Amino acid sequence: MKSDSNKALVVLSGGQDSTTCLYWAIGRFGHGNVSAVTFDYGQRHRIEIDCAQEIAAAADVPHTILPIDSFAALGGDALTDSGIAVADIIDDETGLPNTFVPGRNLIFLTFAAALAWQRGIGNLVAGVAQTDYSGYPDCREETMQSLQETLRLGMESDIVIHSPLMHLSKKETIELAREVGGLEAMALTHTCYNGERPPCGECPACQLRAKGFDEAGVTDPLLTAP
Ligand code: ZN
Repeated sequence: MKSDSNKALVVLSGGQDSTTCLYWAIGRFGHGNVSAVTFDYGQRHRIEIDCAQEIAAAADVPHTILPIDSFAALGGDALTDSGIAVADIIDDETGLPNTFVPGRNLIFLTFAAALAWQRGIGNLVAGVAQTDYSGYPDCREETMQSLQETLRLGMESDIVIHSPLMHLSKKETIELAREVGGLEAMALTHTCYNGERPPCGECPACQLRAKGFDEAGVTDPLLTAP
């Protein structure tokens, strides 16, 4: 199927990275050509979905929430299993933190591509990055290139996966957010692994976020939000 190469679907998690991607996409493809999708994958912190909804509404883009409820049944990760405390514990065998949900981005992007196909949208935008992160293998550039190829073959489409944050540090991501007009929306984003709002400031996600804002010399709008 021939999809519209001017239209883009952003995978919006409610976090700062995907929000930056949303504003990047609006700048690149034009406001009327951008829509967003959020996955309800049984995340412990439902606040992420509320945040995504607020962010999409503030940016005034069409927003779809798709349920994918099999991750929790897999178990074993701290993002869907309330019996596991989130920490930057690295598993000795896999070398991965316990927030790793195996295959999550592959599944998200495959569903996003299916939705894009249905709507004739030619571009997907994802906030994955291989820098500054916990080394999630499904965030790597090679993975994205390979997945794009698979989706093109498997859906007979010419879909393009954009990952504008791929080689940016957290600092550079904040700078990009400012550049594309997404800084104000950061007040609506959610990053904290403990699901706290205002954020706990202690967990690895909060610390990484704070480091990025510090290095960029920008005050985090979330911390000054009423
Ligand atoms: Zn936190």
